[in-house]
This record gives sequence, C-alpha cells and structure tokens, in this order.
Amino acid sequence: MGPAICGGSSGRGNHYGYSSCIRTCPGQSATWRRMLDAWLVAERHIRWIVGSGNSSFWHDNWLGSGLLCRQVEIFQEQPVADFVVQGGWNWVLDVDPPSSGQVLPLKVSFFMVRLMSGRIPVMGVLHKFGVVGPSRCFCCRDPSQETINHIFCIGDVARQVWSFFEVLVGGFGEAFTIRHKVISWWLKSGKCPYIKLLFRLLSSLICWNLWKARNKFVFKEKLLTMKQVCDRVFIEFRERFGVQFREIIIPCSSWPSFFDAVAGLGSVVNVVQVRWKCPVQAIVKLNSDGCLRGNPRRSGGGGLFRDSDGRVLLAFSCYFGEMTSLQAEVKALLHGVQLVIARGLANFHLESDSLVLIQLIQGRAKCPWVVQRELQELVQYSHLYIEISHCF
Ligand SMILES: [Zn+2]
Repeated sequence: MGPAICGGSSGRGNHYGYSSCIRTCPGQSATWRRMLDAWLVAERHIRWIVGSGNSSFWHDNWLGSGLLCRQVEIFQEQPVADFVVQGGWNWVLDVDPPSSGQVLPLKVSFFMVRLMSGRIPVMGVLHKFGVVGPSRCFCCRDPSQETINHIFCIGDVARQVWSFFEVLVGGFGEAFTIRHKVISWWLKSGKCPYIKLLFRLLSSLICWNLWKARNKFVFKEKLLTMKQVCDRVFIEFRERFGVQFREIIIPCSSWPSFFDAVAGLGSVVNVVQVRWKCPVQAIVKLNSDGCLRGNPRRSGGGGLFRDSDGRVLLAFSCYFGEMTSLQAEVKALLHGVQLVIARGLANFHLESDSLVLIQLIQGRAKCPWVVQRELQELVQYSHLYIEISHCF
C-alpha cells in the first residue's frame, strides 16, 4: 500500500483482518492483547491517503469521514482503483442483481425474506422479546451466543460451509453479517444462465440448510457435520438445477466436478489457428508474458527476443510479487522494452498475449489507475517500436 498514515498505528486489513474480525484467543501475548484493546480507538484516527489505488474502497478510511462499509448495507471487496478510470471517478458500477423467477421452494423464499430482515427466532433475537433460555450455539467448539450472524455467517460450521462452496467459485471477500454474505453472492455476475442460477440459488440453500442443521440439534439433539450440511446443499441445488434446465444432464456426484461442468456449459469453443510469425528483416521481435497463481497473487513475467529468422537472441524472466494479471503483463512488457533499449536497439516489434494491454498502449481502452505509471513509460518509448501486435 502506497499511502501515508496520519496519526495512526501500523497494520491494516491485509495483515490482520479488518478490526471487526480480530479476536483474542487464549495463549496470545499480553502486548498483542493490549494492541487489540487499543485498535478500535487507534483505527478512528487512521487515515489512508490514496496513492497507488489499492486501499480498500469500503474498509479503509481514505475519505477522512470514516469507513464507507459502515454507511451502506451492500458492499464488496474492491480497491479504490476499481472506481477510477483515466484519472476520474467511474460512476457506473457493473453489478448484476438477481432476476426474478421462482426456482426456489416457496418456504425457502419466505425463510430468506425473514433472514434478510433479521426475523429468524434464534435465541439472541428471542431474548430481546423476553424469552429466557439457553443461548449457546450448536456450531462451535467453544460455544458462543446464538445470533443470526453467528449461526449463518461467522460460526465455525457456517464459515466452513460457505468456504467449501466459495473456494471454487472464487472472488469472495470476508463478510461478518449474513446480509453482506448473501448479497455478495447475488451481486456476482455470471455470463451464462447456468452460472447465474448458481449465484442466485446457492446462498439461499446454504442458509436454509444451516437453519435446518441448527433446528435438528436444538429440537432433536442430532448434530450434523459440516460435510453433511454441504452434501445436502449440493443435492438440493442439483435438484433445482435439473428442474430449471431439464434438457441438461450432469452426471456428477461431487460439488467440484458439478461446478466445473456448469461453468463449462456457458463457454463457446472457437477453433483458431495460432502461429508465431517472424518479424520482418532487420527487426527484433519481443514477445512477453505475465503469469500468476490466482488473481491477484504472486506473479512474475518473462519474454523472448527473436530475429527475422526466428532465432532467440535473448530471454528474460523476473519475479514481481503480489499483483493482478494486468499489472504482471504490463511489467513484463516494460521490462522487455527496457532491456531492448539498454542494448541500444530501436525499431523493434512488440507482441503480447494480453489484448487489454495492446489496446491500452494503442489508446483504444481506458487505463486502470493501477497500471497508469508503467503504461505512461511504455507509451513514452513508442517512437522506438515500429509495430505492436496481439498473439495467443
Ligand atoms: Zn457457534
């Protein structure tokens, strides 16, 4: 993170989790406990100054007026850079709210309406109405008070069940309320109707089965394991999917293989002949590529210089640290260009497999803030290369 800190201590969400999720545990040092005690007070005086754009839009106090996530009901994990295009604010958010259509059983739909408005009779809610009774949760090794957010979102079983499904889908941040959790599923955009159905239904079925597991324990004293809850969610989703898309038969008995099959349904396969072409006489061609595990994750890049006969003149690879795929692509190409220039070459040909990067250099796409600096440097050398092209 590039910003300065005004009057605050170090440490932020990336390292310790957001303040609302920090918990003290037995065995922690006295110093750490005192730091946690002071964290909420210190946090109010921390202000992040936007620099490279990777402050959290919702969780960091970059406005100076407090955290935005505390002023809205719906938010996702997004850096400030996501809201900036070409140095200005991007006012249009690309979200895809759930469409209407009855594919859930009516009782589950009603249950979700009640859940989202906080009207589920867990003991934490009943206490407010004067109902006295045990309020220990069913889901944790060290039982906590039974509240809606605990049973459905932050309790041990809830966390494990959500994680089981979210790991494969990807792109979910930490959530501490069930409203945030469910809405982050509903706001996910899918390209095909199959994935859209999954984003719309699965979170409701998870909540419904967590509720049934809780009731089974409370009223029948039967404890379901996390795996049993996940299996029930998956079986119910597969049934609803079969009802909605009768023409599609997916003979998969596990969630990972079923998800892969559903994700593959929407993809259209085009066959394109791919071939590298030699540059013209006396021109050196640079092919670069960025790579990473996950997005954003640890990344690197590399490239090759070849002459008009296809002979490799030079190759390079480098490690960039944690960043997005586009950042890695830009850095790899920039590193290659700097190597060419350091060797006194001009009139070279650039080629990358990132269509977005090519369009950015050609000025045909809006530049995300996060790569603006590197892109400006690449454009600055534009008089030295004679051609830039995209390859697969
Ligand atoms: Zn619990």
